[in-house]
Amino acid sequence: MNLCDISFVKRLMAKHQTGTKKSFGQNFLINKEIPEAIAEASYSYHRSLSNKKSLVVEIGPGIGCLTYELAGCYDKVIAIEIDSTLLPILDETLAEFENVEIINCDFLKMDIEDFFKSYSEEYDISVCANLPYYITTPIIMALLERARGYLKSITVMVQKEVADRLCATTKKGDYGAITASIAYYGEAKKLFDVSPDNFLPAPKVTSSVVRIELYDKPKYKVNDEEMLFKAIQGAFCQRRKTLLNSLSSYFGNISKDKLGEVILSLGFGESIRGEKLDIEDFCKLADKLGEIK
Ligand code: SAM
Repeated sequence: MNLCDISFVKRLMAKHQTGTKKSFGQNFLINKEIPEAIAEASYSYHRSLSNKKSLVVEIGPGIGCLTYELAGCYDKVIAIEIDSTLLPILDETLAEFENVEIINCDFLKMDIEDFFKSYSEEYDISVCANLPYYITTPIIMALLERARGYLKSITVMVQKEVADRLCATTKKGDYGAITASIAYYGEAKKLFDVSPDNFLPAPKVTSSVVRIELYDKPKYKVNDEEMLFKAIQGAFCQRRKTLLNSLSSYFGNISKDKLGEVILSLGFGESIRGEKLDIEDFCKLADKLGEIK
């Protein structure tokens, strides 16, 4: 069965009286080589780190083309799909697998930490998905904030410009709050681009596959993680302004003079912008901010 054959996909959806839904970000893959390559990118990295039983969690299986490839690699696949009209289709397309479980719910409404924790004794876990574009960042941030302690890696297809942001550095790319946050938890690597003609319906933009390889524990030390993420938010809340002005509008309770002293004490000039600070700098900034009484 080729779950990426465009006439097969159309026939299947017509038979089950459903169609692709823009409101759920449904752009289904119609070139089998792509889900094969995504599954391979996810599993080869996962396997290189772990000998324990392997579990992959997929967000948004659609009609199951990536799920199908993942089921051939991992010991177990749990796929979470919001659209209940796709359930009978998934029953049909994944019928040959006993290691696949489908959960019908909104991933962002799940108790994410509890869910991953409950499988972590028995399995090493990775996440792999062709993400719905309308909630890419909330999904990635929810995984990092609430599940990263249980995860080896997150391999996702996202819009190319989001991928560029995830993988940016202080020297290259569109560096922002999510870039700095990811760098605290792990390393994001862009693997390959996927052009719009590989999807039904074709999106307007190019997509890219990114693998976030998570550290077992954070590489950089910081006294207070909550302060670290406030410092990152504060540095980017006014993107066009200097670090000082942006922090000053975010931390209303700290005087601008004090913030200026903190920035100078870290060896930066007053006109530096947030995008020049790497994650190590942010950890130092957070520690200094935490010392202000
Ligand atoms: N994996 C399939 C593929 O590659 O062809 C479908 C990917 S499609 C871009 C995104 C999928 O995520 C859709 O099946 C959509 O219904 C599902 N989805 C959208 N929002 C979701 C949510 N909040 N929770 C779970 N699934 C969601």
